[in-house]
Amino acid sequence: MPVKAGVVRAGERTTKQGSPDTFTGTVFQDPVITANSPSRLGGSVVTFTPGARTAWHAHPVGQTLYCLTGVGRICFQGQPPQAINPGDIVNIPPNTMHWHGAAPDRLFAHLALSEAGEKGEGTAWGEHVSDSEYTKPVSG
Ligand code: MN
Repeated sequence: MPVKAGVVRAGERTTKQGSPDTFTGTVFQDPVITANSPSRLGGSVVTFTPGARTAWHAHPVGQTLYCLTGVGRICFQGQPPQAINPGDIVNIPPNTMHWHGAAPDRLFAHLALSEAGEKGEGTAWGEHVSDSEYTKPVSG
């Protein structure tokens, strides 16, 4: 269906809660861009409560995170977690295992942008991030 010109009013979209299958803790998702062919780009503002984070996962065409509020974490497989702050941009290459979320004691929100794969592939989800993985000392 072609994209209609106009304004999508805030009240027309509802906040969703992240599934416990793919997140630890309480996470809220506000859709911003829903992929409309020929575009494969989707985007949401994701708000993580303190300690909340995604499971390990990878995106077929990568992902960009734009940090909006609070203090967060990004972790690439094989590296220590890094602290991220408002204004930071995180580039996540295709098929790269990682997780993201809030700091243990802070709310955190980012805009997350990613494209589906050419054949419609979505995010590939792995294990939940354990407390010992999550609480490793941060770099950066
Ligand atoms: Mn991601």
